[in-house]
Amino acid sequence: MSYQHVLFAADFSDEALKVGERAKDIAEKCGARFSIIHVVEDMSISLGGGYELLPVLPELPDETLLRESREALGALAEKLGRTAINLWVVNAPSTKEGILGAAKEHGADLIVVGSHGRHGLALLLGSTANAVLHGAPCDVLAVRI
Ligand code: AMP
Repeated sequence: MSYQHVLFAADFSDEALKVGERAKDIAEKCGARFSIIHVVEDMSISLGGGYELLPVLPELPDETLLRESREALGALAEKLGRTAINLWVVNAPSTKEGILGAAKEHGADLIVVGSHGRHGLALLLGSTANAVLHGAPCDVLAVRI
C-alpha cells in the first residue's frame, strides 16, 4: 500500500513524538508528502455565535494561543528532523472537523493519530481517534500508545 500524502494530527502530549515518527517513517517509505496539523478548538464557533449572551465568556483561542501552538508544532517538526513538512495550526469548532477538513482540502490519503491522547485514557480508542475514524475520507492509522 502506498500513500501520497500523510497527515499527522499532533497534540502536544508526551507521546506525540512517537506517533509522529511512525507517520514520518510511512511518508518517507512511500515518498509521500508529509503534513502535520494541530487544531485549536474555537469555542465561539461551537457555541453557535450565542456566546456573547453567556455571563462568563469561555476563553477563546487568541493570537497568543495560536502563536504558541505554531511554536510547539515547529519544535515537534524539528525533533522529527524532516524539513519538507507542511505545518498547519487551524482553528475549528472541533478537533475532528479541523483534521478532516484539512485532510479533504489537501487530499491526504492517510491520517495518523495516536490511539490515546489527553482525552482518551479510559477509552478503548481516544475520542479524537474514534471521531476521525468515523468521518474520514481516507485510511486512518491509530498508533498504539
Ligand atoms: P485524544 O482524543 O485526546 O485521546 O487524542 C488522540 C489523538 O488525537 C492524539 O494522539 C493526536 O494524534 C490526536 N489529537 C488530539 N488532540 C488534537 C489536536 N488538538 N490537534 C490535532 N490532533 C489531535
